[in-house]
Amino acid sequence: MRKLIWLIFPAHLLIILITMAGLAWYGSIALKDFYLQELDTDLSDRAYMLRPYVDAFVGQKDAASLKKFCTVSGNESATRITIIDPQGKVLADSDEDPDVMENHQNRPEIVEAMSGNKGKSLRFSRTLQTRMLYVAIPLSGVGGKQGPGAIAGVLRVSVPATAINRILQSIRGRMLAGSAGIILLAALVALLVSRHISRPLEIMKANAERLSSGDFSHRMLGLQGKAASLEVATLAASMDKMAAQLDERFRTIINQRNELETVFSCMVESVLAVDSQEHIINLNAAAAQLFGIDKERAKGRLLQEIVRNVPLQRQIAMILDNGSPLEDEIVLPDEDGERFLQTHLVSLRDGSSERDGVLVVMNDVTKLRRLENMRRDFVANVSHELRTPITSIRGYVETLLDERLEDRDNGIKFLEIVLRQSDRLNAIIEDLLSLSRIEQEAESGEIALAEGRLRPVLETAIQTCQIKADQQDVRISLDCPENLWGVMNDTLIEQAVVNLLVNGIKYSERGSMVMVHAGISGRDRDRVLIQVRDTGIGIGKEHLPRLFERFYRSDKARSRNLGGTGLGLAIVKHIVQAHCGTVEVQSREGQGTTFTIGIAGTVREES
Ligand code: ADP
Repeated sequence: MRKLIWLIFPAHLLIILITMAGLAWYGSIALKDFYLQELDTDLSDRAYMLRPYVDAFVGQKDAASLKKFCTVSGNESATRITIIDPQGKVLADSDEDPDVMENHQNRPEIVEAMSGNKGKSLRFSRTLQTRMLYVAIPLSGVGGKQGPGAIAGVLRVSVPATAINRILQSIRGRMLAGSAGIILLAALVALLVSRHISRPLEIMKANAERLSSGDFSHRMLGLQGKAASLEVATLAASMDKMAAQLDERFRTIINQRNELETVFSCMVESVLAVDSQEHIINLNAAAAQLFGIDKERAKGRLLQEIVRNVPLQRQIAMILDNGSPLEDEIVLPDEDGERFLQTHLVSLRDGSSERDGVLVVMNDVTKLRRLENMRRDFVANVSHELRTPITSIRGYVETLLDERLEDRDNGIKFLEIVLRQSDRLNAIIEDLLSLSRIEQEAESGEIALAEGRLRPVLETAIQTCQIKADQQDVRISLDCPENLWGVMNDTLIEQAVVNLLVNGIKYSERGSMVMVHAGISGRDRDRVLIQVRDTGIGIGKEHLPRLFERFYRSDKARSRNLGGTGLGLAIVKHIVQAHCGTVEVQSREGQGTTFTIGIAGTVREES
């Protein structure tokens, strides 16, 4: 493809060249014709001027004078003069000897003159070996025997035509030089005109390229001044208008896209869009995180490569097949077990409302499911825990009724068991009530925390457990600075420490010791740590992660025998949570257990 300038300019140049060549050709022909015409007239005039003299000589038949006249006149006027008689014989010639000259009867100019007219011929002279222009006129031969009206001969005058050629050559040379100058000038003008036409178009081309690359900032208003034509200026103005409109539309689209992108990426729900071939069109940050993939790298890939989940693939295939919205659930494997996702699927439609793909919105309902499971387990556990003592009580009371209280010793033993089981029932219900109360108060923010000295709280807790410790022959020691303060609810912290102490006493050997230690945290000076340590039976490593769950027991039989409800540590966990604190357990089977509660607190220098 050639540039516009190289299409316009050569065409202009060709037109100029053809015109100039035509002009030169026509001019030289016209000039030649004009020159010959002039020469012809000149020669005729000369012939007519000479005719009276020649007529006189011919009439007198004075051959010698005729010859002399011809030679002299011919030399002086630089004209060849030839006199021919009616038979074609040359009587006299200014340049040659007539005796050696051949008969001229058939020369075209002579034939014409013999018929009484003026004859003319331009041809090669064999006598002079050059091109000559001949003009011949008839002689009347005044004074001769033929009388007036008869032709007495022919007077022919001629000049060499080479002079014409020479003059024409020099005129052509000048014309050529002039033409070259004109052509150069015209070519320059053509070049300028071509540039003038092509320049605005080039600017428009550059602008169109900028438009196609998304740069709408340039305008061609300035072109109107430079533009070669009204059409180009109008086109530039239209392009400017189009660029402005495109710019505005692009901005609107980009803004809308950005808004959508922001909404899309900020959504908590995972969103995934796939096309009809199940290639991923787009996904949001939540979905990328859920499937552990890079958002940008996932786009365009097959869904199966990214998410290996058969139920999800089946759901998508179903929507692609029948198009009606679907609500379902999928389970994804996770480091902490399983992730439950509620899926909502709708089909994506393009402009022609053909089904184009599927939009999947996934809601993580793992927490909800876990809560539901916990609630279900809890109800099952509560029922189980309550049924055991109730069944036992019922069994013994039925036996007592069957025996009609006849066996007094056994009756008392049975009643003692009934009392123990009802104590256990009571303990379970007490623990359940306090657990739900703490939970409820923590949720509604009713638990009041206040700064207070820690030692008195620990002392009261120890006092509460003292009787039990004495029964078990277990000693309790306390190590807590007087100036240690905690941000706490005294009653609840006391209850938590009591629960830990009761466990420490329960799961220790007789004669051993349970130590309560409180102090400021080594890592965090704003934290107080309360430790309850025993040297009892300890807890297996496998039980530690679930130890704080309700009704979880590491040793079921022993716990029940010792009157445990399985709720003590769950209560401790809830109390600590209400204090925004932490509770940890360290234990080794057979070596003892240490529970550590961490809450906000400090050491106060007392005055
Ligand atoms: P329980 O009323 O059965 O003691 P808890 O919730 O207080 O219930 O404790 C849960 C389980 O943790 C207990 O059944 C027991 O197996 C274990 N456990 C708690 N504290 C200790 C301890 N100090 N030493 C050994 N095991 C303990």
